[in-house]
Amino acid sequence: MELLNIKSLELANKKVFIRCDFNVPMDEFGNISDDRRIRSAISTINYCLDQDCSIILASHLGRPKGEVVEKYSLAPVARRLHHILKREIILANDVVGNDAINKTSSLKAGDILLLENLRYEAGETTNDEELSKKLASMADCYINDAFGVCHRAHASVAGVTKFFDDSSKAAGFLLQKEIQFFGKLISNPVRPFAAIIGGSKVSGKLEALINLLPKVDKIFIGGGMAFTFLKQMGYNIGASLVENDLLEDAQHVMDEAKKLGVKFYLPVDVIAAEKFAEDAVSKIVTSQEIPDNWMGLDIGPATVRLYREALNDVQTVLWNGPMGVYEMDKFARGSLKIAHFVADSYATTVVGGGDTADLVQRIGVDDEMSFISTGGGASLELLEGKILPGVAPLIVQEV
Ligand code: AMP
Repeated sequence: MELLNIKSLELANKKVFIRCDFNVPMDEFGNISDDRRIRSAISTINYCLDQDCSIILASHLGRPKGEVVEKYSLAPVARRLHHILKREIILANDVVGNDAINKTSSLKAGDILLLENLRYEAGETTNDEELSKKLASMADCYINDAFGVCHRAHASVAGVTKFFDDSSKAAGFLLQKEIQFFGKLISNPVRPFAAIIGGSKVSGKLEALINLLPKVDKIFIGGGMAFTFLKQMGYNIGASLVENDLLEDAQHVMDEAKKLGVKFYLPVDVIAAEKFAEDAVSKIVTSQEIPDNWMGLDIGPATVRLYREALNDVQTVLWNGPMGVYEMDKFARGSLKIAHFVADSYATTVVGGGDTADLVQRIGVDDEMSFISTGGGASLELLEGKILPGVAPLIVQEV
């Protein structure tokens, strides 16, 4: 799959709209805890600056759901961009309102304007035609460098592309790199190929799990999503996170794995706690012995040993989603041990998803992974073989 190339665009003295993914994690003090997504956009921004463009950057942050919510302002992102680029970053007070329009129209070559959070506009997530049109009207060219949102048909990702012809839109360097990497991974993974899938919910990853089954040799489940599977297997999971409406689907995943000969691993023990809090009383229990009203918040030491043992011969590892509530030190150990093991292995190691990328960066093993994707959901959908709605309009059409 070949994408419209940024280097083919005539950019000199044009206004360029770059859709970035600045949806970065924040700590409890409102500081950006991992700026990988911001740093990943710098190549594209620098390239445009070198072509004497004026630049309009746009991103979402969090889920303000169509309303202006102060804590989701892109102001901290503007400050970090300023710090990295050592240039003034003009922040608009809105997305397509008077302030943004005024500031856009007075941009000169070399200026960088950052629009406010795209999701302050309700039309962003509904792929609203009017909003797409207004966004498009700001610029001469459109570049998508937001791999992390390409699986969403949103106005700034999908709708907006209709207003640019093939000679005035392209994929940025980051998007190109991600698509190329996953293209190779799908077409020719070195086997055995394992997926480690964690995080909070089965619902977000169910389809991905089903679609990954024919491609991988082993699947390791961790995090809150493990409990829906364990419950379906007849275990008492106490007050652990569970999605009761997905029990049948969980069974379907396990049946499919069996049919396809995929080795499907679930935690054999967990760290159970009396409540969802750092200071909770906690203990290690086997998955069969989670006390009533206790909740499993991390995988236990036996699971870590089991997963390591089974990962030993693996040549390609895809990891998406933490093994426990890694934000609390007490329940971070399972994720930490798996992270160190994966980082030390000689396999091709691919980390996808904001939380998992944040985790490996926090413990300092990010440099040892083969590839850290800026998109969790997007990378899973790519591996499923889907054409992402943000990528489809940027594919070079064969003539
Ligand atoms: P996701 O966004 O689905 O990848 O989920 C990431 C979140 O899952 C993190 O914020 C974790 O704290 C959370 N998580 C992981 N394990 C558990 C668990 N056992 N119970 C509740 N939440 C969990």
